[in-house]
Order: sequence, then structure tokens, then C-alpha cells
Amino acid sequence: MQTSYPITSKSHEQGSQMENVLEIRNAYKRFNGTKALCGANLTLQRGHWLALVGPNGAGKTTLIRSIAGRVRLDTGQLSLFGQQVDPTRASSEVLRRRIGVVPQDLAIYFHLTAIENLFSFAAFHRVDQEDIKQRVHWALEWTGLNERRNDLAGDFSGGMKRRLNLACGVLHQPELILLDEPMVGVDPQSRERIWDMLNSLREKGTSILLTTHQLDEAQQMADRVIVLDHGCEIAEGTIDELILQTVGEDHQVEILLREQPTSPLKIDGLSIEGLRVRCRMIDIAGQLPSLLANLKEARCEVQEIRIHTPTLRDVFLSLTGRDLRE
Ligand code: ADP
Repeated sequence: MQTSYPITSKSHEQGSQMENVLEIRNAYKRFNGTKALCGANLTLQRGHWLALVGPNGAGKTTLIRSIAGRVRLDTGQLSLFGQQVDPTRASSEVLRRRIGVVPQDLAIYFHLTAIENLFSFAAFHRVDQEDIKQRVHWALEWTGLNERRNDLAGDFSGGMKRRLNLACGVLHQPELILLDEPMVGVDPQSRERIWDMLNSLREKGTSILLTTHQLDEAQQMADRVIVLDHGCEIAEGTIDELILQTVGEDHQVEILLREQPTSPLKIDGLSIEGLRVRCRMIDIAGQLPSLLANLKEARCEVQEIRIHTPTLRDVFLSLTGRDLRE
């Protein structure tokens, strides 16, 4: 069963007139003998959420790190906030202020308290002196860590560390946030809290690029999805576009009968295997009643009906031949 996340509406402005906050073209990166990126492309519009999904080793982290200036590309074009940036060089101070990076591995100081971590990161991100106290206060409230502000980060639960990690990456209120697997090792309660936190940034118009293994979360949160494999994108679009391009939008209907039909069923489009009857339908509400009526007429009693609506997981499987859990 799918979990439901407390989400606000996705951005739905139509693409062409919107400003690109991030554009990367033909990104190549090789680590010794390993090709991590092989011509990857990516575009993110202001206020949008873009999910980067792909099997392990697809190049997602390398791509995120290259945008943050932490990996230097071998070749490629990178544009941030409409300005060309040399992706083969270290990132500038200006970028540090406008981008927030939340890495997969926790990047907080375990031997410092929550509040000390926040003050340290405020200084790192060059938050103006007069704003620091207010930003740290905001971050403590936002993460729900105010009461634990004087406790060592190293003593926090996994979920609390993740929340602090996220706050440290965004307390300078950047326009673009790069999130690498924000939910790794997070319990369901903290997960909801983190989605709430991210949604409050969405409401402020922050653009987010996130990598995730949680395809159901990507499906619910992201405006667009890029599927990366072997260092370049193999598909890109909204969830609906990706479903249409790959598995098709038909629902798969499976009906379990109580007993074997006494005579062969003569209903179009059905595949029958033992007690299981399967078919595909575009319009469940319109087509299912007549199928059930036909089964009744054929004296087939229905025990159970299952309907599967195509998801990002189906798209992923169809494109890569693998499940992300493999
Ligand atoms: P993903 O995030 O999709 O799992 P990565 O970008 O981490 O993929 O890795 C892509 C490939 O590049 C992998 O084969 C990985 O082992 C390799 N790689 C990534 N970073 C380094 C590095 N610093 N040194 C050597 N190889 C690396």
C-alpha cells in the first residue's frame, strides 16, 4: 500500500516562459577508469522539484556534486541562475550563498550541540551578521529541535540528525537546494516532518533537485523526474509523460474467481489463468461494471478485484529492467 505524504500542490506553470535556475549539458566525468557521467543533461526551472532517480552507480551523486562545485567535470556546460559557470573549476563564493547542499552522508559536527552546528553553518554560508540569530532560531523551530538545541548532535536519533543536516544545508535560505537521498535511515515520523519542512520551502518558491531511492515519494513530490543510468539520462518528464512513454496509462485489472468457470468465457480482451482473470482498462469506472456484469452472466462469482495503476516504479522497471530495491 502507498503511504500518503503531507504534500502541498506541485508547481504547474507551463515550462516555456519559466526561468531555468539550473541547466547542465553534456556532462562528462571519469574517475580513473570509471565513467561516472557520460553526457548527462538536466534542466530545472525556478520553483520546481526535479527528482533524479537511477540504479546505484548511475552517476546521481556525481552530478549533484558537480553542480555544487565539489566535483570538477572533465567537460560539459553548466548554467546557474542564468549564468554560465565553468564546471571544471571550483565553485564561487556567490554560488555558495544561493545554493544549499544537503549531502547523503551526514555533514554535521557530532561533537557540537544543535545550536552550535547551526551557528557554524550560518558562518560557513556567510549569513549576514544581523540575520544569524533569527535564522538559527528559525532552523530550530523548523526542525522541531528547539528543546534539544543544547544537546550534542552525536546523541540525536537518526531522524533528528537528518533534520539538523537539512537545516544546516538550507539555513541561508538558498534559491536552489541539492538534496542527495534526504530520507536515508529516517523513521516514518521524522520522514513526515522532513516532508513538511521541504514543503514549506516549496511554498517559498525554492527550487529543489533531489536524488531518491523512494520512487513513491518521488512520484508524489516531484514536478518532473529524470531517470539516469550509466551516466546519462534515459528518460525525462512529468510522471504522466513518463508513464505514457513507457508502460502506457492503462490500469491493470485482476479478478480472482471463486471457482473455475464451467464453460469458456467469451469476453474480449481477457487473459485467463486458472482462477485469475486479467485485462487492461483505460476507464475503470466506465469499463469495470460491464465486465462484472458479463462475469455474472457467465455464472462466475468474483472473490477479489485488484486494480494496479501505473507508477514511477513500473516506468523505472521498464526503462532499466531493474527494481531500485535490487
Ligand atoms: P549514484 O549516486 O548514482 O549511486 P555515483 O555518482 O556515486 O552514483 O557513482 C557513479 C560511479 O562513479 C560509480 O561507479 C562510483 O563508484 C564512481 N565514483 C563516484 N565517485 C568516485 C570517486 N570519488 N572516486 C572514484 N570513483 C567514484
